[in-house]
Amino acid sequence: MSRARTQELRSRLAAVRAGIAAAAEAAGRDPTDVTLVVVTKTWPTSDIRRLLDLGVVDIAENRHQEAERKAAELADLGITWHFVGQVQSNKAVRIAAYADVVHSVDSVRVAQRLNSGAHRHDRSLDCLVQVSLDPGVHQDGRGGVAAADVAEVADAIAGAGLLRLVGVMGVAPLGADPHPAYEKLAAIGKQIQAVHGHASWVSAGMSGDFAAAISAGATHVRVGSAILGERPALR
Ligand SMILES: *Cc1c(COP(=O)(O)O)cnc(C)c1O
Repeated sequence: MSRARTQELRSRLAAVRAGIAAAAEAAGRDPTDVTLVVVTKTWPTSDIRRLLDLGVVDIAENRHQEAERKAAELADLGITWHFVGQVQSNKAVRIAAYADVVHSVDSVRVAQRLNSGAHRHDRSLDCLVQVSLDPGVHQDGRGGVAAADVAEVADAIAGAGLLRLVGVMGVAPLGADPHPAYEKLAAIGKQIQAVHGHASWVSAGMSGDFAAAISAGATHVRVGSAILGERPALR
């Protein structure tokens, strides 16, 4: 394994951790209340092994096939696997085989399919409702449930025997100030938590905007390129 790559990941990871701590302190929050989830999509499992050595246990992927392959290759290493991409309902049963947390539940149907998968594989899953933060209607397919429908999907997760509702997730709209979007997400999260007491997670913020997300109340930030580098062009 390349030592130069290990050093690179070590220093970028340290910088992101410092940035998270600074943003939390600036917001009067305890840095340990913010969990870093490292998004490793497109990067090889050798990088995930390096991250494990550097103390990262929360790893996220956004495509089923890639996630399934990596989870199989890295089984039994104590990784918590987060799935953050759109869940196609015909893949949900298989995603339930390896994912520990699914951030991107965006319909009642997906919740039901994940629950069937959890039954089939004899496991339980932590789930978040992905909330659309796009102004207007879902025009660009970044996914998520309209604010008006979040409660229905949350109830479906909470009512499914093997799913545990842990909170809400959002992706800020492209090319706009992320702050109002993350404030809106945090407010929706509070409404959900008022009904479902342990649904306390707010999964928000990526490489470019995690500080804004933390100031709005994010409990989990999903950071990829700031740690691993710019991704090769999408295949
Ligand atoms: C890729 C991805 C991230 C991380 O994005 P970076 O800009 O590389 O930090 C976060 N969340 C989701 C849903 C993603 O697909």
